[in-house]
Amino acid sequence: MAQELEGKVAIVTGGASGIGRATAERFVAEGAKVLIADINDSAGAALAAGLGAAARYQHADVSRADHVQALVDAAVECFGGLHIMFNNAGISGGRHPHFLDDDLEDFNQVIGINLFGVMAGTQRAARHMARNGGGVILNNASIAGVMAGQALMSYRASKAAVIHLTKCLAIDLAQYGIRVNCLVPGHIRTPIRSMTSSAVSMELQERIEVALKPVWDSNKPLKRDGVPEDVAQAALFLAGDRAAQITGAILPIDGGISAGDPVNH
Ligand code: NAD
Repeated sequence: MAQELEGKVAIVTGGASGIGRATAERFVAEGAKVLIADINDSAGAALAAGLGAAARYQHADVSRADHVQALVDAAVECFGGLHIMFNNAGISGGRHPHFLDDDLEDFNQVIGINLFGVMAGTQRAARHMARNGGGVILNNASIAGVMAGQALMSYRASKAAVIHLTKCLAIDLAQYGIRVNCLVPGHIRTPIRSMTSSAVSMELQERIEVALKPVWDSNKPLKRDGVPEDVAQAALFLAGDRAAQITGAILPIDGGISAGDPVNH
């Protein structure tokens, strides 16, 4: 059976862990060459080494446009082109348990990675794709960008912006044969929780867990947390030719939690 991404070259930002890692592995399994980008160099290099000649690792902080441009250049140099850009890297931020205590530094950092990273990744990849017959941009948002709630205000705002940006970019970049779609994961079991605990106080971590656990456990129609492979499979579909007529799509991967009234699930 033909592999779905045979002959394609992809960049996966935040590819050393969690959803990015699962997607890099899935893309390689489906025949793609993958440039894994991250700031966690040891994990990223180890992953690329394990995936063999189809994968490379490059350090890149997505909040730096020069790093992002270097990624695009490296994909072209190492693998001969760039067809898929997965803007996946993200942080939760939220060092303060209460909004009134939040600081603008935290906001700027979250926006810099979660929103500017998507903007820069899309622009630099799309400049190459526009000159070379098109391509696919995938952005990773979050259910937190769709459903309102307490805490993590910077994160929620950044992810809502990624969703709207995706739709605008889909319209703008269609003329170049570039499709732009957005993944909207619900709660996925990844190390983002350990990333969160290193970035926020334990008090906030516990508040988030306590506040969201009943929703995650009982009100989700499919009654289970997602796993990184669930998102990787959605990314594979949107990246491949089976999704050739899909652009500007906002795809929930959340067990149905955003579909309706949780009380009546
Ligand atoms: P993760 O912590 O397992 O992976 C995130 C990766 O991004 C890490 O390897 C980290 O080193 C990297 N990273 C952080 N800052 C970076 C930067 N400036 N430049 C490059 N790489 C950077 O988390 P995850 O759960 O796999 O999250 C991946 C994406 O999925 C994020 O955008 C996150 O917001 C989104 N998401 C996650 C969930 C969830 O429940 N886990 C839900 C919705 C959306």
